[in-house]
Amino acid sequence: MEYNQNQCSHCNESISSEDVFCPNCGYPENGDQKEKDKFEYRIELRKNVLNDAKKKLKNVKILLWVLAAINLVLGIIFLMQDLTFYDGIGLIISAIVFSACVFWVNKQPLTGILAAFIFWLLLQLSVVFTDPALLLNGIILKLVFIGIFVKGISSAKDYNEYSQKLQTINARN
Ligand SMILES: [Zn+2]
Repeated sequence: MEYNQNQCSHCNESISSEDVFCPNCGYPENGDQKEKDKFEYRIELRKNVLNDAKKKLKNVKILLWVLAAINLVLGIIFLMQDLTFYDGIGLIISAIVFSACVFWVNKQPLTGILAAFIFWLLLQLSVVFTDPALLLNGIILKLVFIGIFVKGISSAKDYNEYSQKLQTINARN
């Protein structure tokens, strides 16, 4: 059985000595140094993309915690006044939704961020119905939020794609 069999030095899968590339991870076990360097370089690149995506996802999570905290504090203040009691309930619910989205982003980054973004947009829309002038309130901050959401969405795609690619490559590492 040992005859004509080799082990991939990257993932330990046994490979035939005729195979240049490991069928499991693609490592050029029987290739030249240049091919091996290229393989390592590709992994480095993917790790960099993944790390960058993780940073952007973290920004989204921080934003969601901030939104949850603001809604919670305002909600408590509103709840204590009869006139704004029902608005207070709405704010508390929003705080819960934003916190829940953080856990959703952890499990499924893309759908979690999309859900949070749509919910946030709906909140902005509901404000427009009460008073259109309010839409321009803190417009710069709102644009920053949109930027964080949009970057998060494209990073979530990268995150899914590259963590999967790295997983297949590092299968047995
Ligand atoms: Zn391998």
